[in-house]
Amino acid sequence: MVRCPSCGEDEALRGRRCDDGVEVTCESCGTRWTRVPGASCDRCGSTEVWVGLRALVERSRGTQLSIVGTVDVTMCWHCDRAVLEEHARRTDNRLLMPSVMPNVSGDHPAPGSPS
Ligand SMILES: [Zn+2]
Ligand SMILES: [Zn+2]
Repeated sequence: MVRCPSCGEDEALRGRRCDDGVEVTCESCGTRWTRVPGASCDRCGSTEVWVGLRALVERSRGTQLSIVGTVDVTMCWHCDRAVLEEHARRTDNRLLMPSVMPNVSGDHPAPGSPS
């Protein structure tokens, strides 16, 4: 059964075929995700996964982040729920921003780390 991972709606859902599978839109809360046939979470086995691209970012100077590339990711609505909910709220494009931003190595070495 298809269920909106954000609000739990299971009836007011609209599916549209796209290149990667079926793009499902929840008409109750507006969350959009793609169901890909055969895709599943390698951690819990759920097929409620989001397949998309995650941005690869790099700190250029100071706190400026620049996107240097993308990588294919499969995110699970169970294991990565918080990340996906945040993503669904923030944007409707398919580029996921990394939850952990890279540190500039060398600028702030951890105390006690060998040099
Ligand atoms: Zn919803
Ligand atoms: Zn999972």
